[in-house]
Amino acid sequence: MADDTIFGKILRGEIPCDEVYSDEQCLAFRDVAPQAPVHVLVIPRKPIESLRSGAAEDAALLGHLLLVAARVAKQEGLDDFRTVINSGAGAGQTVFHLHVHVIGGRPLAWPPG
Ligand code: AMP
Repeated sequence: MADDTIFGKILRGEIPCDEVYSDEQCLAFRDVAPQAPVHVLVIPRKPIESLRSGAAEDAALLGHLLLVAARVAKQEGLDDFRTVINSGAGAGQTVFHLHVHVIGGRPLAWPPG
């Protein structure tokens, strides 16, 4: 089955999510294990495995995901926030459907772990 990830199942409505934003290109929902008071994931409806596999034809979609991330942060009342895209298991990616983490609502240290 194409995109047999947990996010594919969410996109197909096979498992629920706590949705905060949706449009024809992407879906945003709350992370099930939040790392901060606000922790939202923005995912494309197109099943791109990771940023490593994004193609030139995905340029507009990738830009859209970042604009939606900023929109969601504002919607959640955040002035300061962090966006994270983990690419590959060694970088912490556990779900192989591209997603942008939007994290905020507490002080965020740098560098990350
Ligand atoms: P990453 O480690 O960058 O691949 O991020 C995957 C994220 O997906 C983690 O922060 C998980 O907590 C989150 N996650 C996994 N399953 C679900 C789910 N069913 N609903 C919401 N978030 C999830």
